Amino acid sequence: MPSEVAIEDTARALRGIKGITVRTNELMAGHTSFGIGGPADLFVIATSISNLSEVMRTLHELGVPAVLLGNGTNVLVRDGGIRGAVIKLGGELAELQAVGNMVIAGAGASLATLCRYCADHNLGGLMFAAGIPGSVGGAVLMNAGANGGEMADVVRWVLVVGYDGKVAKLGAEELGFGYRSSRLQDRRCAVAQVGFQLEPSEGAAVHRALCEVIQRRCRTQPVAQRSAGSIFKRPENDYAGRLLEGAGVKGLAVGDAMVSPKHANFIINKGHATSRDVLALIELMREKVAKKFGVYLETEIVTLGEE
Ligand SMILES: Cc1cc2nc3c(=O)[nH]c(=O)nc-3n(C[C@H](O)[C@H](O)[C@H](O)COP(=O)(O)OP(=O)(O)OC[C@H]3O[C@@H](n4cnc5c(N)ncnc54)[C@H](O)[C@@H]3O)c2cc1C
Repeated sequence: MPSEVAIEDTARALRGIKGITVRTNELMAGHTSFGIGGPADLFVIATSISNLSEVMRTLHELGVPAVLLGNGTNVLVRDGGIRGAVIKLGGELAELQAVGNMVIAGAGASLATLCRYCADHNLGGLMFAAGIPGSVGGAVLMNAGANGGEMADVVRWVLVVGYDGKVAKLGAEELGFGYRSSRLQDRRCAVAQVGFQLEPSEGAAVHRALCEVIQRRCRTQPVAQRSAGSIFKRPENDYAGRLLEGAGVKGLAVGDAMVSPKHANFIINKGHATSRDVLALIELMREKVAKKFGVYLETEIVTLGEE
């Protein structure tokens, strides 16, 4: 993959599947919080488990690589774009349903919508996730967390669709959650739906707690600027932000990519940053911390696509 002909042939095959959207040469800069990224050959929005399964199977049979994209808030897409297909979830796959103390969430729903929905249904347990701008699927795959909580605390099961189109339900114990990681990252599958086990709570109190967490984020993080959240994972027994601040990286820039003056673990796109700028700045930040503290920082963000 892929010549222009192969892309058009694949798009034609996919357009035979009911309920999906298929576009070609879709710029990923419009789908990432960094606002960076070249074109994906194929961009598909799946809206149900059955059409997602058909999309996956068709791509697999045609030998076209595919990658899932949530809200694009933890990815850096390279300037050359993505060969093959990028799949996003919408329609039924972004819906939420409360069943007793559980919420069944389509993986395409945003965490913000999920948090508000839980508060409206008098359910607590997800307040830690307030202000994390990702989707349910991306958050589960990354085991997103903050404020002492993480997805692993509340996920009970996950419905996944493999690249062969097969659907499987995995219990939390099969997901191998670790710090900002899960076994789903090695599985090459789409997370389609997630069952969250929550606890009864007074809705107004949950809404208040969500607001407080969001206000704290606004004070400490450059939430109004284009970024992908924390660039580096927390090293053992320390904080990446503390080490980076100590290494003096705030304000350091390569092209239009700059380390946020507000939070040393955030890179912001000041306007026209390229993935090259961001990657070069990441290496500079890493070198400065290694030189000063002897700690090698591991990146948290996922890099997709080609130069
Ligand atoms: C301002 C800001 C603050 C942030 N704060 C936090 C924080 O406090 N804690 C934290 O953990 N993160 C934080 N993040 C990072 C990010 O929001 C989370 O990691 C989020 O959960 C990623 O979700 P997403 O939908 O954007 O995933 P994406 O960025 O779209 O994708 C991330 C990875 O998940 C895969 N993926 C996405 N959806 C699916 C799916 N349905 N099935 C299979 N694979 C999928 C992608 O292929 C990619 O590998 C922050 C980001 C920003 C911009």
